[in-house]
Amino acid sequence: MLNLLKHPFLTHKLTRLRRKETDTKDFRRTLGEIAGLMAYEITRDLPLKDITIETPLGKCHTQELARDVVLIPILRAGLGMVEGISNLMPSARIGHLGMYRDHETLQPKTYYSKFPDNLPDAIVMVLDPMLATGGSSSAAIQILKDHGARTIKLVCVVGAPEGIDKIMKDHPDVQIYLAGLDEKLNHNGYIVPGLGDAGDRLFGTK
Ligand code: URA
Repeated sequence: MLNLLKHPFLTHKLTRLRRKETDTKDFRRTLGEIAGLMAYEITRDLPLKDITIETPLGKCHTQELARDVVLIPILRAGLGMVEGISNLMPSARIGHLGMYRDHETLQPKTYYSKFPDNLPDAIVMVLDPMLATGGSSSAAIQILKDHGARTIKLVCVVGAPEGIDKIMKDHPDVQIYLAGLDEKLNHNGYIVPGLGDAGDRLFGTK
């Protein structure tokens, strides 16, 4: 299911991210801020469990989070979302998944993966700022399912209809979260109007 998150801060910061004048320093900071704001909304429905603790003055019947959260940034642009989210949940464990698109087959290939061992019980948040064709996100979700993940949330900043359709078809059980829904992909697979190459803008490689 698609969840298009709406908040004036998100809209304002996404505008800054999209502007071509925004330099690497501001792009990096803003992407982190957007990821943090998105995480705050996305985690509204995290399950809690009842516990009893002792305060300095006595017993307190209260609640704490019932499930772990795992963050899986897709390298490399997903790295720009990690800090903003882990500031909210410092104990979240973090896995990494590196993928590229094979020039001949055009299929996503994994070149690096390392996951924590609590995937089956955790709420797994897959981080990739751009949901373009959906090819690498869909493959990433499949890899995580193959490693036992059962609750997966795909957190992107900007998405195109093509990518959303692919994820909804391949993984109807996965919740998709976006801050912006754009018009289309161009012939190079870039989101229009989008924000350009998120990895290059984040790391200053162009
Ligand atoms: N990846 C990007 O970085 N930008 C796009 O527009 C699409 C995919």
